[in-house]
Amino acid sequence: MEKLDYRSIPGPKSAEIIEKSRQCEPACSVDQTPIVWDHGQGVWVWDVDGNPYIDFTSGVLVSNLGHNHPGLVSAIQNQAPRMMNCYSFPTPERVSAAYRLAKKLPGNLNQVFMLSTGADATEAALRIARRYSGKQEILAFYGGFHGRTYGAMGVAGSMNTRRHFGVPVPGGIMAPYAYCYRCFYGKTYPDCGMFCLKALDRVVESSSSGDLGAVIVEPYQGTAGFIFPPEGWLKGLETWARQRNLLLIVDEVQASFGRTGKMFAIEWEDIHPQLLCLGKGMGSGIPASAVCGESDVLKCMKPGELSSTWGGNPMASAAVLAVLDAMEKENLPENSRVMGEYLKSRFLEMKNRYSFIGDVRGKGLVIGIEFVDPVDRFTPSQEITRKVVMGCAEHGVLLGKLGLYGNVIRIAPPLIITQPELDAALNVFEGVFKTLAS
Ligand code: PLP
Repeated sequence: MEKLDYRSIPGPKSAEIIEKSRQCEPACSVDQTPIVWDHGQGVWVWDVDGNPYIDFTSGVLVSNLGHNHPGLVSAIQNQAPRMMNCYSFPTPERVSAAYRLAKKLPGNLNQVFMLSTGADATEAALRIARRYSGKQEILAFYGGFHGRTYGAMGVAGSMNTRRHFGVPVPGGIMAPYAYCYRCFYGKTYPDCGMFCLKALDRVVESSSSGDLGAVIVEPYQGTAGFIFPPEGWLKGLETWARQRNLLLIVDEVQASFGRTGKMFAIEWEDIHPQLLCLGKGMGSGIPASAVCGESDVLKCMKPGELSSTWGGNPMASAAVLAVLDAMEKENLPENSRVMGEYLKSRFLEMKNRYSFIGDVRGKGLVIGIEFVDPVDRFTPSQEITRKVVMGCAEHGVLLGKLGLYGNVIRIAPPLIITQPELDAALNVFEGVFKTLAS
């Protein structure tokens, strides 16, 4: 294992490239730790100054197989000289990837339409939902994130997706998500009896023109701060939607391919959406996404009504096949579950010792820690969050930060991580927390 010594951030080479970036790139990207990534291997990333880091971000929940996975690298190397793109002509690679994926999908989901980005997949799902239901309105949730395009913005519940960007595609109706740590209704789970589900009819009565056709939901809210609803909530939502004849779209762009400890997050509660959006880990570094669905639903789309220049290209399809191979051979969803349970238990134990840790939540290798004012133990603390992210980076652990209040760290290492690697990272956290507490 690499040594996790103290390093000053940014190193001189990183600083030089960051300065160059300031001269030619707009500063509208997500605010990250100021280091410049050079290369990666497994769960490790090196910056241009030669410092190693354990990657607790997986990019942005993308590199589920770890960086430069040998199976994925050789699949791309083998495919490159054969063919890279052919628009929407079928290729053996694309059809094999769709076929294998369709066989793996739970429930009645049996069709796969390959695209490139998560927003491609959610936009396609919204189009299909409107066509199939013949209705314009879609119920979505506060804090939800489905991409940066205008259709996705119309069902987004986060401020930096909507604020000052004008009128989104109309038809989005917004309801509170089950963010139990900061309940919108000020209630406490389980005494609330999942009041937020019971309140959905009120939300729809007061906001819908009567043309509601679908619901779009993340199985856990990613961008909002790794917010996991309580057990039974998604099932309750599925039942509510079915009883009202609404199409259910689950956006698993970041939640699938083993991330939560199952291949697909909907498997935890045996959820049966009519449409499922996949992305990120699907290509584990190569852009690949898909809208998946029941054939009865997808047959509403006529030839030529869904397409994309890059979707399902042979390079991306070869990558998806390599990802499916690795998921099976290395049993990555199971490793994610086991390592995730261990990691979460260690953080929960730290929560008892450090008053600035407000909440620890997650499933598999997706864990959110919410930092709060150590005195009232509730007010979001961006300051502490920033110090944790920088302190961990200075000792070799790379984290993302996010959340509706900017006070959540994103813990999402590649699914190949081992316990010794987790222990090395946990030592770093312990050191940083101790310093902050002193
Ligand atoms: N949906 C969810 C749940 C996401 O987390 C994201 C990205 O973070 C997207 C959609 C959009 O994906 P992309 O950035 O690939 O367009």
